[in-house]
Amino acid sequence: MSHIVLVNIENDTEKVRRQFSPPFGLLIAASVLVRNNVDVVVRHIINTNESLAELSEICKDALAVGFSVMTSPNLLSAIEASKMLHNLGIFVYWAGTHASLLPEVVLKECYVDAVLRGEAECNLYEFYQWRIGKIKADNVRGLCYKKNGEVIISPLPPLVELSQLGYHPFELLDIKKYVDKPVVKRKNYIPGKILPFMTSKGCVKKCAFCYNTVVNNSKWRPYSLTSVYREMDFLIENYGITGWMFYDDNIFVDPERAWTIIEKYKMPSSVELDLNRVNEKMVERALKANVAKLYIGIESGSDRMLKRMHKGITVKQVREKMQMCHNMGMNVDLSFMILLPNESPEDLEATLSLTRELEEYSNIKIDGPKCYNPYPGTEFFQEVVASGWIIPKSNEEWAKYNRKISADEAGFNISQKHIDVLKRYDVI
Ligand code: SF4
Repeated sequence: MSHIVLVNIENDTEKVRRQFSPPFGLLIAASVLVRNNVDVVVRHIINTNESLAELSEICKDALAVGFSVMTSPNLLSAIEASKMLHNLGIFVYWAGTHASLLPEVVLKECYVDAVLRGEAECNLYEFYQWRIGKIKADNVRGLCYKKNGEVIISPLPPLVELSQLGYHPFELLDIKKYVDKPVVKRKNYIPGKILPFMTSKGCVKKCAFCYNTVVNNSKWRPYSLTSVYREMDFLIENYGITGWMFYDDNIFVDPERAWTIIEKYKMPSSVELDLNRVNEKMVERALKANVAKLYIGIESGSDRMLKRMHKGITVKQVREKMQMCHNMGMNVDLSFMILLPNESPEDLEATLSLTRELEEYSNIKIDGPKCYNPYPGTEFFQEVVASGWIIPKSNEEWAKYNRKISADEAGFNISQKHIDVLKRYDVI
């Protein structure tokens, strides 16, 4: 009994199969164990009878099995797999955003033995040492566990220094699953073997709804260029990757670093960035470097809401910059959110109306509008609770919250006027 199994399990749906992307958090955790010469097995699976059977086989002699969990419907698969392994007598722990933010909820369940809060670079090796009896539980930062029927909760550990950041050992995954998946050629689709990729983590902005403000403490940390290039070269050479979807929350926090990476490869790519970074010079440079599209979180069509969210942009800027991108031939995906706390029916209507206006452009695809998701610790969380929203009490109840949740499922205390607007725009 010496190896650790790291698992990311997703529901068996057509959408999951279509959007299957490498589990970056899981790879970072694996890199910690690899660096410390601990045997690790990584499994990113879709929940089927066969994958569960294979998982129980791999896990049967494991020292521990760690599930990386986000608040989303995929929690249901993590619950099912955890119960199965727990019933086989295997030590199960949960890590990731959901477990880090809600350790009490997770540890109420008998099928989870421990929660590891925060970043794997900080505490996964300590956790391993605890499991082999070399150190005490008190010395594992962020460890939450059960002791004689009592649940011990540790605080969220501080973020790790740049020099301790992990990397992505892609060789531990079957990359073909991510490039040979079913493709739907939607607006702004980028042809070729396009792989999601991350060069940094976190974001410096403080959007009032975003979990990054809690989990990454509004800090942005780049992975070393040496490991970024090594990973990209490995993926190109071994899997014939022809383009990238840069999944960084905000790759342009350090623009020169971002350009260095993008211009080194000049492969078709999509980049996620802040509207404030978008100007004529930037778009010109991006087009020359083969950037196929920009992904920008706009979130609202109401200046009042943009201000409350601390987005630092205005609706006028959105319109002007989207006209400019259209004129210059740059494709753009824009994300929008609705039913935020204290969003008036007028704010809601402004958002829905702006999305309708912008999707008329041939180069603009609207992502959403998605329903707001409450994350504990964020500025908007207390507001939504104060507005009458009942905090979910179990993993199952939390499982319905993800960005695809429908307005009527979310359970927010909205007025008849909101409902009328949603109906008028065919949202419900
Ligand atoms: S810009 Fe995006 S990633 Fe950054 S805090 Fe705002 S929502 Fe979060």
